[in-house]
Amino acid sequence: MLNKSIQTALVLLFFSTLAQASVPYAKWTKRPKLAVVIVIDQCRSDFLTRYESKMSRSKTGGLKMLMEKGAYFPFARYDILQSMTCPGHATVLTGAYPYQMGIPLNDWYDVNAKKEVYCASDIDAPIVGRDAKPEEGLSPRKLGTTTVGDELKTAGLGTKVVGIALKDRSAIMMAGHRADLALWVEDGQWVTSKYYRPDGALPEWVLPLNTNLKKDRPDENAMATPFGVRATTLAAIEALRKMKLGRNSRTDILAISYSSHDMLGHAVGLQSPKMEEMTLAENESIGELIRAIDKEVRLQNVVFAFTGDHGVAPPVDVFKPLGLPAGYLENKVILEELNQHLETKWGKSEKGKWILKARSWNYYLNPEVIADRKRDRTEVENEVKARILSGPTVGGSRDGVKYVFTRTEWENRKLPPGQFERQIMKTYIVGKSGDVVIIPKPNWVDKGPFATHMTGYNYDASVPLVFMGPGIKPGVYGEKAEVVDLAPTLSFILGTVAPSGSEGRVLHEILQ
Ligand SMILES: [Zn+2]
Repeated sequence: MLNKSIQTALVLLFFSTLAQASVPYAKWTKRPKLAVVIVIDQCRSDFLTRYESKMSRSKTGGLKMLMEKGAYFPFARYDILQSMTCPGHATVLTGAYPYQMGIPLNDWYDVNAKKEVYCASDIDAPIVGRDAKPEEGLSPRKLGTTTVGDELKTAGLGTKVVGIALKDRSAIMMAGHRADLALWVEDGQWVTSKYYRPDGALPEWVLPLNTNLKKDRPDENAMATPFGVRATTLAAIEALRKMKLGRNSRTDILAISYSSHDMLGHAVGLQSPKMEEMTLAENESIGELIRAIDKEVRLQNVVFAFTGDHGVAPPVDVFKPLGLPAGYLENKVILEELNQHLETKWGKSEKGKWILKARSWNYYLNPEVIADRKRDRTEVENEVKARILSGPTVGGSRDGVKYVFTRTEWENRKLPPGQFERQIMKTYIVGKSGDVVIIPKPNWVDKGPFATHMTGYNYDASVPLVFMGPGIKPGVYGEKAEVVDLAPTLSFILGTVAPSGSEGRVLHEILQ
């Protein structure tokens, strides 16, 4: 027979376990009036952990507030093959992997049209706000699934959805198909496209922002400095005020991405003191944003979600001299050598080169040459793969190859093991991904900027994930979390169906 105090303890334990597994109904049905989704572009997890003590000295820092007052997953992940801005931002509010939401890369190659395709390009949606060439235009039409905002709007809830970022693809992918507005910067000015403004005019309230940008911008590179961070915050605050977000009974969505961090990060690398300066500036600027939101809407009516779109690799020129394995795996060099090899083996064709393009280690075969020389695709894929794996090393390049897989191997599900197979299955799209794809060894990158991000390894895929607001239990969480969990968790909080391609889980442990 258990004594009374043990019995009481067991009963209490039972009820406290129950309490953890559920949310009080009355609390859950009290929906936030505004959901603010903040992304820092290239925010690898340790940008927050490394500068945490310096941020703590600030009383007004927004990143510090998110970490302290929010439910903070310091090391959330993207489980995709290639970490980049467009796939990252397309994940945030769809909760979907690229194979479903349709954006495996920033840009890819269309072998039939013989042209490069940008993830947000759309000639039918010309730019509004500057003189655009006729072939230029941008929209979310290549996004194959819905966002949280799309679902709220489609449910007839009268939600307003706005996306703001210096980079067009970031604003557009988060704003989704049915956005009221997406704003981004071209030639130092805020612009949008006819997709959002069929009348071809910028909203009136954007014009003073542009006048100020012209007046205040110190130089051409200003967007890759804290100036770009502040410009983004100011535009978000103006959108909040002028579009009266969070002023009605339904939930509005404001999605903001800070692109400056990535622009600078590519140029100087994550170890540079300039990145510390940038992160501390973001801390202050996001603090200003949160205070403006509090003033307009009151924080008890707002749910915040924060994450990064990808991480970054340590620069080879910094990493390698330390004796760590790293190097360059150059698309262009490998492409040339492969084309030469195929011409020697099977002859030249009037139809052009055997391989049309190499983009981010995706190699696109030329179907016309394959037909002209009477080979078949699988045979050519296999030859290219074998040549990459065992051909001559070109400028040290081949040393960095971990695996190579082909379209046919993807079709037959004969793929590299472990995380690679999983990430390929979540990412690969026929017609967008290459016919042959290289997976590099860790810390091998293509030549280009000083630092870059292009893989599914931890350094590229690890980002913070934070939720903050009423009903969210603050704390640091060690549970496995992925960025695909953000959208279904937000949908749960807002009482709506998760987006169409969402495969994440509801992070129920953060709800109280
Ligand atoms: Zn980048």
